Amino acid sequence: MTLHAEYEPDNIFAKILRGEMPSVNVFEDDVALSFMDVFPQSEGHTLVIPKRVEARNFLDMPTEALGAYMERVQRVARAVEKALQPDGVVVTQFNGAPAGQTVFHLHFHIIPRWKDRSLSGHASGEMAEISYLEEIANKIRPYAG
Ligand code: AMP
Repeated sequence: MTLHAEYEPDNIFAKILRGEMPSVNVFEDDVALSFMDVFPQSEGHTLVIPKRVEARNFLDMPTEALGAYMERVQRVARAVEKALQPDGVVVTQFNGAPAGQTVFHLHFHIIPRWKDRSLSGHASGEMAEISYLEEIANKIRPYAG
């Protein structure tokens, strides 16, 4: 059901794109917006969402818009890696609630990993302090711009 449904214009990320909800941004152009995940699974957990499309998930994404969007995903992943120097980087994406998706506007997760640090739960736990997210975003922005 959640895999094939109408795009819901009041989803959280659509509201962020319209400026109706705050976000701690690291990158923005006419193709994509990238901001810090407010329930970070690791330090530097960042999301990249496409603009100007009503795509709930990867399967919905218009093929002609995919290339430009994926360039932005890579750009932010590189920026996160340069800024935070993790041991690894997970780039992931969920399609449909049974697959783990909780917000139905396409997004890729960029999740830095360190050998000696465990991962927090997905979309759960305490919401991060905005000042903490800003501190990390300040490190990433110079590499993403
Ligand atoms: P998914 O479960 O793959 O749909 O991922 C949605 C992600 O959005 C989760 O990692 C949440 O922690 C994150 N999230 C939810 N609300 C917000 C918000 N207002 N700002 C930033 N990230 C959010």
